[in-house]
Amino acid sequence: MNGPGAAIVAVGDELLDGELADRNSVWLAEHLTALGRRVEQVRLVADDEELIARVLGELCREHPLVITTGGLGPTLDDVTRHAASRASARELVVDPAVLTALEAAHRERGLPMPASNERQALFPRGAQVLPNPVGTAPGFAVGVGSAWLFALPGPPLEMRAVFEGAVAPRLASLPGGGAQRHRRRLHLFGVSESEFADRAGEWMRRDARPRMGVLAHAGILTVKVEAPAGDDGERLVEARLSDLRSRFGSRVFGADGADLATVVGEALIAAARPVAVAESCTGGLVARKLVAVPGISAVFREGFVTYADEAKTARLGVAPDLLREHGAVSAPVAEAMARGAAERAGARLAVATTGIAGPGGGSPAKPVGLVWFAVARDGAVRAQRRTFPPRGRRVVQEWAALTALDLLRSALEQGRDA
Ligand code: ATP
Ligand code: MG
Repeated sequence: MNGPGAAIVAVGDELLDGELADRNSVWLAEHLTALGRRVEQVRLVADDEELIARVLGELCREHPLVITTGGLGPTLDDVTRHAASRASARELVVDPAVLTALEAAHRERGLPMPASNERQALFPRGAQVLPNPVGTAPGFAVGVGSAWLFALPGPPLEMRAVFEGAVAPRLASLPGGGAQRHRRRLHLFGVSESEFADRAGEWMRRDARPRMGVLAHAGILTVKVEAPAGDDGERLVEARLSDLRSRFGSRVFGADGADLATVVGEALIAAARPVAVAESCTGGLVARKLVAVPGISAVFREGFVTYADEAKTARLGVAPDLLREHGAVSAPVAEAMARGAAERAGARLAVATTGIAGPGGGSPAKPVGLVWFAVARDGAVRAQRRTFPPRGRRVVQEWAALTALDLLRSALEQGRDA
């Protein structure tokens, strides 16, 4: 019996030996869900023709829609098309148009086409070819019993392009789709999952309309709000979004995939605010995130990576007495770093980081994960302390860098209100 839902099959030995994390099915699950398809299972399957054929046969009996990724390349370990041929009991035949296009693509690059590439022009008889606008290997769609099987290439860019160009439009005309879902995301900084649950728990119940879920990563909390599409769903989602904005105020930094560095960078550019950064434990990560923003050269003056005490003194003018008395990870040193960076870079806004990223170097008074920040703005300077969970050096550094960006964001907002 056909269930209403879809199944996804990610093919490849490298997904099963720990070499590569499967990202394709995550992406497909998100996009199928948004199109009103309920994904009921995801399988990871080795490059084994017989095994793939068996899995496809089984899934096509249980689900009206099965999507595979990977194994469409020219090499002998790419066997998804052969497995699909077996599962659908349709022999592989050459598609002359695809063969001509493959030959032309090679001619353009001045290369003879290896015989192995001819495999990529083979499709189960009667299959529909799904064009690949960003690679040589097209995907295909074929009926297996009463189910539709869509086979997509493995490289994520190609998989996405084929899905968006050829699968999504076909799904709209296939039976079994539910209502599309209206889905929005809101991004908060500096609100933990438990704090969020305390302050917005009543909206998170499983039977709540619209549905809400949260995901936390390095200080960023993403809140997903969704409801079946249609006038009412849209209204419910948008209303909940404004509830969230008014409850969490300036903790909300963006929506629908906005990135904190981009939000901060664009705000700095819009305010024409020259900025400098002084970094110890983040080692340049704050500067790196800012310079990733197009147009930042209009405002980004200088980043100082001052790791040793001597560098803090030489580059930023941090008094040796302060370092001796309070240690490098302290409020007075963070403040002196921010002040020094602002002065020396000729910027009236600067942020500084100094902390203990770990795994070693912690003490009861200054544990791993402790970071002091300071923001210098128009001559005034203020330090703040945060303690991040000691989840490894990289996580502490990432979290600290995002916190520094968020402090710049707050400084800009206060500047605007003043
Ligand atoms: P190709 O013509 O590149 O061989 P293909 O359709 O045969 O394409 P695969 O050989 O299965 O695809 O995978 C090619 C590459 O695509 C992999 O090495 C990997 O980098 C990426 N890839 C494949 N499947 C996934 C997946 N599920 N998640 C993330 N990346 C993947
Ligand atoms: Mg391959």
